[in-house]
Amino acid sequence: MVGDTYKYKGLRRQLVSSLEGKGIVDQRVLAAIGSIPRHAFFDDSAFERFAYEDKPFPIGSGQTISQPYTVAFQTQLLGVSPGMNVLEIGTGSGYQTAVLCTLGAKVHSVERHKPLHLATRLRLDRMRYRALLVYGDGFKGLAQFAPFDRVLVTCGAPDVPRALLDQLKPQGRMVIPVGVGDDQRMLLIRPDGKGAHSVEDHGLFRFVPMLENRVP
Ligand code: SAH
Repeated sequence: MVGDTYKYKGLRRQLVSSLEGKGIVDQRVLAAIGSIPRHAFFDDSAFERFAYEDKPFPIGSGQTISQPYTVAFQTQLLGVSPGMNVLEIGTGSGYQTAVLCTLGAKVHSVERHKPLHLATRLRLDRMRYRALLVYGDGFKGLAQFAPFDRVLVTCGAPDVPRALLDQLKPQGRMVIPVGVGDDQRMLLIRPDGKGAHSVEDHGLFRFVPMLENRVP
């Protein structure tokens, strides 16, 4: 793996046990986080040493790599099994994408910020994570690869985009932080089989905003 060291492996083990302490129980999610070199997702190696603190971090272009706890919580809620067709909105650094790949999902990930999209494509290629990365507007989803077993939104959405609901399988699940301003509610959404959806609230989180109509 990309410049992994015993020191980073040790820090990763500590991060995993701190996530367990905070209530993450899904062993596959914990194993994925334990195996992925998060430091390789930082764009400036001078800050790598912060990679195994349970904190979000700036990744350039005014964006952030999500806090490990948030990644673990969202992924646990999503409930991914190998082979599932998954859509992620907000590729960012690609760290969450790598977690989904490690769980055996077929990942499609959309990013609206072109330089970030290009840099992350290069990074994931080099690290041998195979995901389909698309430069585009997450509000539209990816109709050509739908329907999805799982949809994961990693930016704060003003509401639940209709297109994303429409691209979900009848047995599917969507995890999406919804709310304008600083705080979002983490929602788990499932089609109820009668044309409507059930919504479960999993508490407050903080994300960078999901922006609409900013892609040329
Ligand atoms: N999953 C990422 C989190 C990155 S932060 C990680 O693990 O690093 C959220 C990302 O969502 C940012 O990169 C931001 O540019 C992107 N984003 C915001 N609005 C978007 C939209 N409408 N479509 C696609 N991506 C969007």
